[in-house]
Amino acid sequence: MSEVISQSPISPVVTFKPAPRVGFVSLGCPKALTDSELILTRLSAEGYQTSKTFEGADLVIVNTCGFIDDAVRESLDTIGEALAENGKVIVTGCLGAKTLEGGANLVRKMHPSVLAVTGPHATQEVMDAVHLNLPKPHDPFLDLVPNSFGIAGIKLTPRHYAYLKISEGCNHRCTFCIIPSMRGDLVSRPVGDVLGEARALFEGGVKELLVISQDTSAYGVDVKYRTGFWDGKPVKTRMLELVQALGEIAAPYGAWVRLHYVYPYPSVDEILPLMATGKVLPYLDVPLQHSHPDVLKRMKRPASGEKNLERISRWRELCPEIVIRSTFIAGFPGETEAEFQHLLDFMHEAKIDRAGCFAYSPVQGATANELPGMLPLEVREERRGRFMAVAEAISIQKLHQRIGATMQVLVDHAPALGRKGGTGRSYADAPEIDGVVKLLPPEKISKTFKVGEFTRARIVGVQGHDLVAVPV
Ligand code: SF4
Repeated sequence: MSEVISQSPISPVVTFKPAPRVGFVSLGCPKALTDSELILTRLSAEGYQTSKTFEGADLVIVNTCGFIDDAVRESLDTIGEALAENGKVIVTGCLGAKTLEGGANLVRKMHPSVLAVTGPHATQEVMDAVHLNLPKPHDPFLDLVPNSFGIAGIKLTPRHYAYLKISEGCNHRCTFCIIPSMRGDLVSRPVGDVLGEARALFEGGVKELLVISQDTSAYGVDVKYRTGFWDGKPVKTRMLELVQALGEIAAPYGAWVRLHYVYPYPSVDEILPLMATGKVLPYLDVPLQHSHPDVLKRMKRPASGEKNLERISRWRELCPEIVIRSTFIAGFPGETEAEFQHLLDFMHEAKIDRAGCFAYSPVQGATANELPGMLPLEVREERRGRFMAVAEAISIQKLHQRIGATMQVLVDHAPALGRKGGTGRSYADAPEIDGVVKLLPPEKISKTFKVGEFTRARIVGVQGHDLVAVPV
């Protein structure tokens, strides 16, 4: 019997477009079932949702059985049904490994339009096929789950980088956001637990630790910055002390610490010296959302646009190499053309290195939907387009300034020990959301590089949002 499995995601995803949905049919024995569980766990951790029906899914995965004729027939029928009702189908499991006389793959022969076919125990191949055909939603807060790292548990990211979640929930009430209503107010994890997990991850081979939360700068507010303990020493539950300690723990492993979701509170200035001295990466992911004070007020955002501009220029004085990433919303309810122009002017002045922008989308349950002045979708989209044109020009201009520089690059892909080239990222590129460094084959025959290791590379060009470099 085939059954479409429906499963809630690990946590609800707040994005401005609905999370991609995957239909899943699991056939066969308990071993096949555990394969299905692994795939579903990965999907869920990456923010995909599952669909009860083929029609309601953006893509369908069929985990097949090839043990007896009946099972083969049932698997082939299920694939046919999924193709007819949905059209986008990935096949995995035992039947996926079956070949006909002459070596042709049985599933491909019977159903040539399937997107991909793998054998059993092929979670990574299945995920690769899903990513190719249905890009994953970005939400590092969800992308953090589980590789085994001792007390750090199971991580689903590649072995060389990991997300470290420092708190849950949020004390703000931004009008476009429903996270507080789903996850409640800020609850900071004990500082000793966070630091213990960080060390376990570095011990396990993590070379880049990505600190995440809903509001990293608010860490410890809920516990009044109480003093915790780690390694027998007192440490305050506060962003500065946490970041200082993370930098110290990372140093012997030569690992990177990258900060996400940092709000531009005055206290953030204190961590800039740590960036300037290389204790943590000079990279800040600061979700600004807008620049105009009135829009920010309607959004109920902390901090006003003017202060943000001052703050950013102060950060650049304290640490000239800092890379700032941010996200914005265009076409928020009531946004006038003048307010939008203010945002474009802000971008020209603040020169945000990496910026993303959503056209406002009324997430169900968000109080902003009741604000007067909802703009037509065309206007919201058109403003998003204009914003992105400015943001991309700034970003590309900044990338061009790197030509000729030699940068440290963490290698993400390196077939044949890098002899054919590969890809990696510099301090300026967070995984999944920023560009990459495309590594050319090294000029020196003796030079090799491996996934999860650092290499130095000379920047020789720019390709879209990516740098092109020669390993040295
Ligand atoms: S700061 Fe605002 S946008 Fe971010 S989680 Fe809290 S309420 Fe939502």
